[in-house]
This record gives sequence, structure tokens and C-alpha cells, in this order.
Amino acid sequence: MIHTQVIDPTFASWRAAARDLIARDIEPSTITWIDDQQAGLWNMSAAPAASTGPSRPIPRVPPEFLALAELASYHRDPSRWALLYRTLHRLGHGEPDLLARAADPDVVALRARVAAVRRDEHKMHAFVRFRRVLHDGHEHFVAWHRPDHRIVPLAAPFFARRFANMRWTILTPDESAAWDGDDLHFGPGAPRSAAPAGDDLDDLFLTYYRNIFNPARLNLKAMRAEMPRKHWASLPESTTISELVRDAPARIEAMLATPTSAAAPLVPASRELPVLREAAAACRACPIAACATRTVFGEGPPAARLMLVGEQPGDHEDLEGRPFVGPAGQLLDDLLGPAGLDRSQLYVTNAVKHFKNTRQSGRRIHQRPNPSEISACRAWLDAEIEAVRPDVIVCLGSSAARSFLGPRFNAARSRGQIFKSPWATSWLATLHPAAVLRTTDDVARGRALTNLQDDLRLAAAELQRISSLPRTPAGANTHG
Ligand code: URA
Repeated sequence: MIHTQVIDPTFASWRAAARDLIARDIEPSTITWIDDQQAGLWNMSAAPAASTGPSRPIPRVPPEFLALAELASYHRDPSRWALLYRTLHRLGHGEPDLLARAADPDVVALRARVAAVRRDEHKMHAFVRFRRVLHDGHEHFVAWHRPDHRIVPLAAPFFARRFANMRWTILTPDESAAWDGDDLHFGPGAPRSAAPAGDDLDDLFLTYYRNIFNPARLNLKAMRAEMPRKHWASLPESTTISELVRDAPARIEAMLATPTSAAAPLVPASRELPVLREAAAACRACPIAACATRTVFGEGPPAARLMLVGEQPGDHEDLEGRPFVGPAGQLLDDLLGPAGLDRSQLYVTNAVKHFKNTRQSGRRIHQRPNPSEISACRAWLDAEIEAVRPDVIVCLGSSAARSFLGPRFNAARSRGQIFKSPWATSWLATLHPAAVLRTTDDVARGRALTNLQDDLRLAAAELQRISSLPRTPAGANTHG
């Protein structure tokens, strides 16, 4: 018997239908999934198929499946509903470890859809540009964007958090999202012509865009890949594209080309720090987790204005479960006060949340995380940044800075320079306190200590400078 299952194109609608079908033990190959766009053509409406036949208990599925399935549901591919149901059915029919079989065609297809959705979400966060319009004497911000997938409900909460004080609407061809200052509303799509074409904010974007380009290096291929042509029309900075092609830096490539982090599917939608901390405690997205005692998540007030990012927890941090509590943390604490910073007001975290080490003669010896481990953990750091929204980020050492700017960044060479950035109004890198402690030559250690002190003072001064600026919605855009 063939079952026709009509659903809204949402995860909730698929999930309700899938529970019913699983309870009735319906074979995946007998179901034709139709979502409401196709249903319109056939004059059908979304409703669970009539329940017939005996019900069987719904099998438990790993939380990872639900997280992956929800992300994959934002993919545009009409066959995603069938793929999700087939995977669910297999998990409950003798294949509970299916997700661990990386080469299985359904698992490959599922993970590929998740990666495409995450990438599209990242692009939407990076490329939405609001234009200011006056409506009934009130300021409103409108953007038009064309995502590859149906990700508006996934991507919109980021804008609600980031631009909480603005009233804004994001239009896409399929759907739209609007924020009225209190709630998000979703509505139908709109053509590009519905959005305003330009306004006085464009000049700000252009200045910002030029500022974050380092003329020293150019990676055109990566730039084209990261800033696909289809977005150019809605980007004010596209008017400077030829200039950028001449002058563009690898830095922006690294900023925009954040590779999809292996931890991304495990990061909950919430940006409440306790929720993130709890989810991160179970993270096994990279091999380091196996040699550490626990995840060491960041700590500090959720409204901290300055975020310190270290490399990874050390031996003491791993045992205590808190960042920077060992000798490097002690030195850091000694330097913060004189620099004008109060640790209790800062958010302190690491680029990598587990202690990478090898055992030698019963001792655990620190190992540097490699680029793929740093990148695997990046989704947790992104989530912390979105939760805290600091004005200033200070990276301690090259590994932390590389999490943001790619594997070629050298903190000793590029320390103490304030950059405008997509992650915070100001971003800078300095030396790691552990590197100062490791320096055996007295003169070199004195110099390193002075440099670290100077950079922390610079960060404190930058924070003061930003605090004295009037906050504007346009300013908020500069690290969207
Ligand atoms: N070094 C780091 O980078 N982070 C810590 O938390 C401790 C030492």
C-alpha cells in the first residue's frame, strides 16, 4: 500500500507525521512525502495521514539524530523528508549506531545537507545588509537576501539577538522574518524589488569593509567562493569589488571562510550560557575529548564587555573545570588589575574546550591543538560570542587568534593591533601568558611580559573608548 503524507515544510510538521508513521510501522519505501508547496499544486492540505492499524512503541533515537534532522529539514531538497524518515526508521529497526557509520549513503546524505544548511546560515549572517527606511516617522531596517535553502527560521534568531533594539525585516524569495522589538514574526517571501535599494548607511558599510581588508594579501578564489556573485547586488560593498579584487586580503577570507565546525550540529539554538555549557559538556566532536577529563567551558558574566580567549585548558583547568586557574591564569590575574581590567567583569574562555595532552612517565604533557581541532571547536566559541556579544575580544596567543583568522596568523608578529571585526567592535591578539612563563632568557621574558601588559592596557583603553561612543543601529551592523 502506498501512503501519501502531506506536511508543512517544517521540522515540527515532519516530526509529528513521522511519529505517527513509525508508530504504525509504515515502511519508508511506501511513503510519498509531499510538502505544502507541492501540495498546493495538488489541492491537498497538510495533515497527518489517517491512523490505521496497530500502534507500536516509538523507538528512542539518539539526540544527535534529532539535531541533525532539524538542521537538514531546512534544506531545499524535496527528498529530505524521505531521507529523514528512512534514517529514523533504520535507527529504530536494528541499526541504533547508524550515525556512527560515516560511509553509509543515508548518513552521508544527511550530513551533507546539514553542512549545506550551516554554510548557508553562515552566509546569511555575514551578507544580510539592512537599509534604513522611515515609516510613519519611525525608523525601520529592511534587507533582502537570497539564501540557497529555507533557512530563515534558523537564521533569524541571530538577527533578533544582534539587532534587538532595531525594528527590522528580512525579505527572501521564499519567506520573510520581522522583528518588532519584542517578537519575531514569519511571513511570505518577497521579490527583491520590495526592498529599498540604498541609503546613507551604505557609506558606513563601505568604510567598514575597506577597513577590514588588509591589502597585503589576496585570495581571489576563496573570496569569490565566500562572497558568491548572487549576493553582490544586495551588498553595498560590492561597489568596491574591483578595488577589493586589487587589494583584498587573506584576512577577510579567513574571517568569512570559517570552515563548518564539527561541533556545529551539537550546538543548541539557545544562546543562554548555562544551556550551551551543558550541551558542550557532552561534546565529542573531535578526538581531544578522549584524552581530557571534562569540557572546560568559558565563564564570566553574560553581559561582559570584554572576552578573553585562550588556547585550551591546561592540566589544572582540566581538573578544576574552569579556564585559566593554573600558573598561566595566575600570571594573567596578576596583570589584569594593573591594566585596568577586573577579571570578575570579563568573560574568559578558550578556542578549544578540551585539554590535549600525551602521557609521559605518568605526567600529562600539553600538546598544541591542530587547525582541524581548533576548527572543530569553533562553533562553541561562536555560540559564546553570540551569547555575550562582547565589544572587545582579546586573543591570548596564536592558537586562539588562529581560530578567528586562520592558521597563518602569528600573535608575536601581529600583536597589539586593534582590528575591526565581525565578532566584536574591536579584536586584538596578544601573547599567551604561558609563553611568557616558558621564556627562559631573562631579557626576552621581560620584553614579552611588557608586551603582554601593554596589550592588556590597550584592550582596557579600547573598551573605554567604545563605552564613550553613542550606540547606533548602524554601528551594530559593523560586526554582523
Ligand atoms: N592556557 C590556556 O590557553 N587556557 C587556559 O584556560 C589555561 C591555560
